[in-house]
Amino acid sequence: MSARIIDGKAVAAEIRNRVASQSAEFQQRSGIVPHLAAVLVGEDPASAVYVRNKQTACEKAGLKSTLHRLPVETTTEQLLALVARLNDDPGTHGILVQLPLPRQIAEQRVLDAVTPLKDVDCFHAENVGLMVQGRPRFLPCTPSGCQQLLIHAAIETAGKHAVVLGRSEIVGKPMAMLLVQKGLAADATVTICHSRTQNLSEIVRQADIVVAAIGRPNFVTADMVKPGATVIDVGINRVGDKLVGDVDFEAVRAVAGAITPVPGGVGPMTIAMLLQNTLRAAELQAI
Ligand code: NDP
Repeated sequence: MSARIIDGKAVAAEIRNRVASQSAEFQQRSGIVPHLAAVLVGEDPASAVYVRNKQTACEKAGLKSTLHRLPVETTTEQLLALVARLNDDPGTHGILVQLPLPRQIAEQRVLDAVTPLKDVDCFHAENVGLMVQGRPRFLPCTPSGCQQLLIHAAIETAGKHAVVLGRSEIVGKPMAMLLVQKGLAADATVTICHSRTQNLSEIVRQADIVVAAIGRPNFVTADMVKPGATVIDVGINRVGDKLVGDVDFEAVRAVAGAITPVPGGVGPMTIAMLLQNTLRAAELQAI
């Protein structure tokens, strides 16, 4: 039996359309066009593509986006000065600092400097804290995108064992936090695995839901997956001229019950959730 493919592109398109109509209503009501400021430091080609995709998605949904490009030799102080300017600008509602930043920049200081009301990536400690306490201001884009895929595919999570591979602040940790909350696409029993985990394969084999976010191509193999499990592949790895996930897609597909492809799975969802957060940021700032 072959797993059901969870089509992230289609779900993301639905969410983007919904954001577009909600944004149009909001604009009519308030006269405000939600505005995302994207900050790109340096010339990393993958980052440039990600930022361009986010900007294009904003424009298609009727949101304004502005790109601030800074040279690779930018200092922490210079970047902090830009963030401060954007924080103070009432016409900017969301601020996105594209990661990774060049090595000389103190990344945490920069992320901490984004004012929480404009923190559409949900990286600020205040927003992470609110999310962990189950009263989110913003939801973290990639993890909430995964959750939306689970909802769309009608995957039962309550009482199920979800295993999250990876404990980064951007994906693994917040993903686990969302799955363990009370509510829709949550209420799961959650295990987090990382590079120090012992018996990782055994743990993953117990999972009803696997979320792979480690950045290792084809790491999750068919023998690690329980028949019928749902597999969400967050990984984006370049192998030669191909993009592959953290899951050995073709082999795992034969065992799993449902699976996300790469590309066309979680990636488009991350962008859709960013748009949703930008609209929410504009709404919150209009109150
Ligand atoms: P990080 O490199 O920040 O974190 C990777 C995590 O995986 C760490 O917790 C690390 O453990 C763990 N890990 C690494 N190797 C192993 C291993 N062999 N066994 C077990 N655990 C391991 O990555 P991110 O979380 O930022 O991203 C993960 C992947 O998701 C990447 O491929 C990235 O490109 C992709 N991504 C995709 C997005 C999308 O929109 N689809 C958005 C963001 C990321 P430890 O903490 O112990 O080092």
